[in-house]
Amino acid sequence: MSFADPLTQIEAIIILAAIALISLKFKLLDRGGIIASLPIGYVILTLASVQHFAILLTFFAVSGLVTKIRVKQIGEELVEKNWIRSWRNVIANGFAPMSIILVAELAPSWRSLLAVSGYLGAIGTAFADTLATEIGLLYPRDPRLITNFRRVKRGTPGAVSPYGYLGGTAAALITCGLAYAFKFQNQLLLLITFASSIIGMTVDSALGATIQAKYRCNVCGKLTESSHHCGKAAEKIAGIRMIDTHAVNLISTTIGALTAIALTITLA
Ligand SMILES: [Zn+2]
Repeated sequence: MSFADPLTQIEAIIILAAIALISLKFKLLDRGGIIASLPIGYVILTLASVQHFAILLTFFAVSGLVTKIRVKQIGEELVEKNWIRSWRNVIANGFAPMSIILVAELAPSWRSLLAVSGYLGAIGTAFADTLATEIGLLYPRDPRLITNFRRVKRGTPGAVSPYGYLGGTAAALITCGLAYAFKFQNQLLLLITFASSIIGMTVDSALGATIQAKYRCNVCGKLTESSHHCGKAAEKIAGIRMIDTHAVNLISTTIGALTAIALTITLA
């Protein structure tokens, strides 16, 4: 497959248009999110394969579904995030997998196991982090901060809990199952996918606890991870202003991919 094959391109456009319509209808993505998803999907469908794309799509569908269930069960307020996924969310989770495919296209020696492992490491990290966050919110007690194990409020960046790790582990296993189902059936590859997903998820929590910007609302006094609250700019109390939750996801999915590639170079 390549950009030159017109049939592949038409196929890609039809698949992406159908997914865009479904995403709009079921509020899985807002308009910006749909626009951001198109180039990512197009690169993966035309330069990699439908199987590659199906793995990313399953992650997207399952995490969207889990978020919807959670929003229904415990309400939208708890994490103060707009739960309909935006372009920031799409880039945060899709940029690393897309980049691996582009790099593999430019450097053909990458195409084999290295590119596949990096691709799966990035998606596994995104999947593990998303399910860890969603399942972690169901934990009945306060979670602990990954850096000092003090108890913190639910939804605090960098908070970890047994439920969160169970959710993340389940997501890592699902990613391995998807890889297997879509013909990536190398045992070492599956092991590396699992390990890099858990490592990437842990890095995500560590970055959330340290460099991610945290704010206090000047109106209601609440701690928040968004720079605005109660309609006003909130005061930054920790972290780096540029690093929001999406930037943390972008960095950790990249680290998940690089971890998988490093493990593949070392072990394969
Ligand atoms: Zn407020």
